[in-house]
Amino acid sequence: MTTQQVSFQEVLRWTDEQCREFLEAMRWPDGPRCPKCGATEPYRMTRKSQTKNTVQKLYKCRACHKQFTATVGTIFEDSHIPLSRWFAAIYLMCASKKGMSAHQLHRELDITYKSAWFMCHRIREAMRDKGELPLLTGTIEADETYIHPRTRRGHKVWHERVQDEIEMGLRPAPDKKAPYQDNPTVFGILERGGKARTVKVPAATGPVLRPIMGKMIDMKNARLMTDGHPAYRQIKHYLPHEVIDHEVEYVRGDVHIQGIENYWSLLKRGVYGVFHHLSEGYLPSYLNEFEFRFNRRKIQDAERFAALVRQTQGRVLWYCQTAQPENPYA
Ligand SMILES: [Zn+2]
Repeated sequence: MTTQQVSFQEVLRWTDEQCREFLEAMRWPDGPRCPKCGATEPYRMTRKSQTKNTVQKLYKCRACHKQFTATVGTIFEDSHIPLSRWFAAIYLMCASKKGMSAHQLHRELDITYKSAWFMCHRIREAMRDKGELPLLTGTIEADETYIHPRTRRGHKVWHERVQDEIEMGLRPAPDKKAPYQDNPTVFGILERGGKARTVKVPAATGPVLRPIMGKMIDMKNARLMTDGHPAYRQIKHYLPHEVIDHEVEYVRGDVHIQGIENYWSLLKRGVYGVFHHLSEGYLPSYLNEFEFRFNRRKIQDAERFAALVRQTQGRVLWYCQTAQPENPYA
């Protein structure tokens, strides 16, 4: 099995055992390793007892004597959904440019909507780039956008909910000078021709955005381009800064922010066209998803799929992150 160039058709034909082999090859290129203590060369075992768990390929660590399988410590741990369905879901999510809704996965993979929804969130967790990320250099485009959540039918509309939350003291009162500040704000920076990074921020203001830029950009080797938003006024003291005022022009020589604008249009077409509604609390995990695909846009779907299977370590232990809004018509 060539590990890099598997087509979707091939993945659909895989049995659970073949999926497990692929996962082991991706996760442990130098042979199995204990997820608890990191020791290598465990004992190989075969499960003989007749239990509900039908995974036959087991390992036992020589150092800490714990038993494990390839899924321990990954997003697949404790899942009752067969690995073959997981792999199909991962392939679809890696290959669809604007994302894949949980409802569509529920229909296509014949699993419940609830399972599909949670599966999507676990896959988004795997899509998050972990560890030290390299700083962005060269020509950098920065911009902010607002993802306006659509509300569900029967629930209060967004601005009414915001008003309630302001009255309850859960949210600061809006500032007349910055009328959008109660919308979920996303700040993004893009290295031209390279990677993008996006974060959800409480408001698009200088004191919020400057430390974020400080952490993501290599200030000594970068040239920043933004629009005329007042949040970027002070940044010229830290690195060379060019402003393109959108009220006047969109492009001036090589000064433009079309790259990051393109990223926003992709994100928004996904959010409004595929997901329709998303809660503010889950916005960061959707940002992970779009970032993962965008930053690997120049490679084939098969390679993107392999890249994701390689980084499935990490567990999602929450089930629901947002308090469900009360339905006034229930
Ligand atoms: Zn161990």
